[in-house]
Amino acid sequence: MPKGRVTFNDELCKGCGLCVANCPTHILYQDMKTLNKAGYNIIRVSEPDKCIGCAFCAIMCPDSVITVEVNK
Ligand code: SF4
Ligand code: SF4
Repeated sequence: MPKGRVTFNDELCKGCGLCVANCPTHILYQDMKTLNKAGYNIIRVSEPDKCIGCAFCAIMCPDSVITVEVNK
């Protein structure tokens, strides 16, 4: 089981990319084919098994889009 699991409230995302830039395991990416209702490209997880649950992504997000569940 991965150490963490991230979920996104996609409709709140403004596509700023801060979460992508600050994930130490480089598992976040902007999906250039999927827009939310506000017209921003949403963020997805490429390799969920590599999430370490650090929550850097959630801390960096200016719009509180990301929830991190930490597995113990
Ligand atoms: S919790 Fe850490 S490892 Fe997991 S997606 Fe966020 S920044 Fe990356
Ligand atoms: S930091 Fe937040 S608003 Fe910016 S791209 Fe990531 S999820 Fe979207």
